[in-house]
Amino acid sequence: MRAVVYDVPGSFDVREVQMSHPGPGSVLVRMTMAGMCGTDLHLHDGQFLATFPLTPGHETVGVVEEIGGGSVDGQGHPLAVGQQVVINPNSSCGACAYCAEGHPWLCDDFAGIGSSTPGGFADYLVVPSRQVFDATGLDPDLAVFAEPSACIAHLMDRLQPLEGCAVVVLGAGPTGVLLTQFLRLHGAGGVVLADPNPAKLQTASDLCDIETVVVDRADVVGSFDAILAGRGGAFDVVIDATGRASVIQELPRLARNGGRIVYYGVADEADVITISPFEVFRRELTVMGSFTEVESFPDALAAFRAGAIRMDGVITHRFALERYGEALDSLRSDRSAHKIVIQG
Ligand SMILES: [Zn+2]
Ligand SMILES: [Zn+2]
Repeated sequence: MRAVVYDVPGSFDVREVQMSHPGPGSVLVRMTMAGMCGTDLHLHDGQFLATFPLTPGHETVGVVEEIGGGSVDGQGHPLAVGQQVVINPNSSCGACAYCAEGHPWLCDDFAGIGSSTPGGFADYLVVPSRQVFDATGLDPDLAVFAEPSACIAHLMDRLQPLEGCAVVVLGAGPTGVLLTQFLRLHGAGGVVLADPNPAKLQTASDLCDIETVVVDRADVVGSFDAILAGRGGAFDVVIDATGRASVIQELPRLARNGGRIVYYGVADEADVITISPFEVFRRELTVMGSFTEVESFPDALAAFRAGAIRMDGVITHRFALERYGEALDSLRSDRSAHKIVIQG
């Protein structure tokens, strides 16, 4: 079988690798689609818990090919050969203090398929069956968003209550598009999505009842003033989905007193911003991060099956596995690329 393999950061090829077969409690999944996201660029550079040699690919859809003994899926249901599934890449140790207290996403030994163990930019993948979830009947073009949606479902848990909150999301990448829909699903009042790219904003507003604002990344302060102009006030919740330090630096401008600021986009590990402790104190701001999920796939899939989340038109680029390098180039620099997937 073929797989993308990095021996060291920054250097990969698509090569033949040994295919493995599932033991007890695991399943062999034939990959049908795997999404790329900004995390794959961080992994390329050796960041984000990357363990080498590395096969990335953490947003995966596939079909069950072989089932090891005693295997049940993440919801305790039996699996069948030929069944379409999605894979939760994230798992925790189950033994540390965080796991014991029911916060597995904080686990010290957090593991990720596609970062710390081999992922889905390959023809096949053997995974623990408990990390597999039924995706029968779902359009693969939606199912491929299960992992980013599960991470967002976890953020929604942390942001409750959201009813009536005014929320602004910076960044209309696929994550921003998903965020706006989950925010509306969870009762946010007005949702504003801001991005420099009008086409991405158009896609997002075609899918969900939101307000959009075109911003200029070269003038973040001026752009934020423009977002606030003509509004009754600033926002209850401000979510960065860009991971850009220049944007994150200015987020407090968009928050009303008592507001919450969420670092959701993945910043570079070396980035540093300045923040005024007096402003956080005086205005009672809450600054929080939200990283990942371990137990939120059922919530994400339920939202898909309820028809609450639509991603029609968000996948703009599809590459075969052997063209992974081109896919990575598009992810890095093609401004017309919205969601990029590896398929076939
Ligand atoms: Zn991702
Ligand atoms: Zn743990």
